[in-house]
Amino acid sequence: MTPTGRRVVLVTGGSRGIGAATCVMAARSGYAVGVNYRHDADAAARVVETIIAAGGRALAVQGDVSVEADVLRLFDAVQDAFGPVSALVNNAGILETQARLEQISVERLQRVLKTNVVGVFLCAREAVKRMSTRQGGPGGTIVNVSSRAAVLGAPGEYVDYALSKGAVDTLTIGLAKEVAAEGIRVNAVRPGIIDTDIHASGGEPGRVERLGPAQPLGRGGTPEEVAAAILWLLSDAASYVTGSFTDVAGGR
Ligand code: NDP
Repeated sequence: MTPTGRRVVLVTGGSRGIGAATCVMAARSGYAVGVNYRHDADAAARVVETIIAAGGRALAVQGDVSVEADVLRLFDAVQDAFGPVSALVNNAGILETQARLEQISVERLQRVLKTNVVGVFLCAREAVKRMSTRQGGPGGTIVNVSSRAAVLGAPGEYVDYALSKGAVDTLTIGLAKEVAAEGIRVNAVRPGIIDTDIHASGGEPGRVERLGPAQPLGRGGTPEEVAAAILWLLSDAASYVTGSFTDVAGGR
């Protein structure tokens, strides 16, 4: 359970898409928010401005989640500004262009695994070190942003990305059990097709329009719909929920 009155969340990749929506919604729920970004300082600044204009507390923090020193710096910067991080949203992720397996280079696979797996691992590890009641911490919550691709495999499109999200799921299961007795809950959301910029980096800017109508709910999702599930998992309303997966995928 997140200790009341010490609600500080670090959202990795908080400058755009699902991360940005999560930052804004978390601030509205009373969290002080560390808005992490890697390249796009202007986008992160816009998220911070939105939060502050609504009376919330937020700080933009640059850092690459796949770099150990950056991760330490991120947690320290947020802690210096607002106090210890009590919630982590492991959201930063990348997708490369659509390709069949035989076209995927080892270099590409390593890039994808570096952000999507090493990044999630490093941030989770740092969060546990600081949150664990066994180590004198206050406890806390972690939500990993996986993908329906972890289950569907993304054949002919991005098996490398699906592989990385499968690893996120496995980490979620193992870590949830490992730290359950230390006051830390660990869960994951698995978004389906959500309307963000990531599809342009996947080489398919019109993906949501093309595939949305074929989803059981007849459309793609919004970043806010994913953020709502993340906020619920972070909240005390989910105090008996750990090691779980919440699909936000319109029935996909
Ligand atoms: P966006 O491309 O819109 O945003 C990605 C964010 O991650 C940006 O803020 C980017 O920052 C940041 N980021 C990327 N790499 C790093 C890194 N190494 N270190 C720190 N920050 C980084 O993506 P979405 O909002 O769509 O995706 C968010 C998460 O949701 C991802 O994990 C993605 O895999 C997952 N997801 C998305 C789905 C979708 O349909 N949109 C479906 C299923 C899962 P910057 O711009 O500064 O580089």
